Amino acid sequence: MVDPLCAEHDPQAEIWLGMRTPASEVADRVTVIESTLREFGHEVVPAREFDDIWLSRVHSAELVEHLATVWDRWVQGRYPDLGAQRVVPYLFPSAELLHGLPARRATAVHAQVGTFCYDTMTLVGPGSWRAIRAATHATRTAVDLVVAGAPCAYALTRPPGHHATRSAYGGSCYLNNAAIAAQALRDADFAKVAVVDIDAHHGNGTQAIFYERPDVFTASVHVDPGAGWFPHHVGFVSEAGRDAGHGANLNQPLAPGSGDGAWLPSVERAAAAVTVFGATALVIALGVDAAVDDPESPLQVTVEGYRRAGNVLAALGLPTVVVQEGGYHLPTLGRLVGSALEGLGSG
Ligand SMILES: [Zn+2]
Repeated sequence: MVDPLCAEHDPQAEIWLGMRTPASEVADRVTVIESTLREFGHEVVPAREFDDIWLSRVHSAELVEHLATVWDRWVQGRYPDLGAQRVVPYLFPSAELLHGLPARRATAVHAQVGTFCYDTMTLVGPGSWRAIRAATHATRTAVDLVVAGAPCAYALTRPPGHHATRSAYGGSCYLNNAAIAAQALRDADFAKVAVVDIDAHHGNGTQAIFYERPDVFTASVHVDPGAGWFPHHVGFVSEAGRDAGHGANLNQPLAPGSGDGAWLPSVERAAAAVTVFGATALVIALGVDAAVDDPESPLQVTVEGYRRAGNVLAALGLPTVVVQEGGYHLPTLGRLVGSALEGLGSG
């Protein structure tokens, strides 16, 4: 599933440690993945349109409204004339700032952004909302194909989504495509859905969205946030779900430098947990930034490792929706995704 609008998001940069650094989540990611998948012989299906109302099954109406309108309000506020070419947060209304007082909607647009965006790396520009929406449409189209009987469908989603929580965005993610897929499968009467996230970084947004839910199991294999990696504050082994969702979340943090030898057994444990959970459908959050050449990750997973991970997850025999998460090394990106999908097709 592809939607050409996914290329319209151009963050230009990330503000990291106060420095404006070139964006790594670039539109060419879509181009190289799509062209490689065509070379692999995959059928490429255009995404269909869906109503935005449906997004509220996973996200707050306030977040959706913010993302849909903030660029226009940024322009109306003449921020680009001041040199602010992208929407970037300035002030974060943390619990300690509010001290128990009710959160208010700040009057100034530049002060509203930090209510929704939890880091300084995730910028919004003129085409961002079109791309964010398009990624959700590709996701929903993939779900519909699987609901109609396809064993597996892949959504070429950009921007990625797994760091977006119900009401907040960050980590180059805006709306959570994996969570949207899981919820859509639930709404299509798959009684129990599992999300397995093999991006190099913890799928904190997906975990948060389903943390109290017993009907959606979330598993993530990722570099250890305790070793100093994004998202730093969550992604630890002790996070097992809360209340009715207790036991329905599995985190497997790995030491920086881990390769196939540690990574693949973790994917196998995630798959085994999906079986124990009794899932009737699967969502794979396919980040390929755990690859050895990727500039964003300290993990050392190989192309063959991704193929074998696909094998492991295909062996579950579940109707499967795959959504694209991270992966930033353009020369190898398409091959990594193609290898994972090849593994999924032959498990
Ligand atoms: Zn990542």
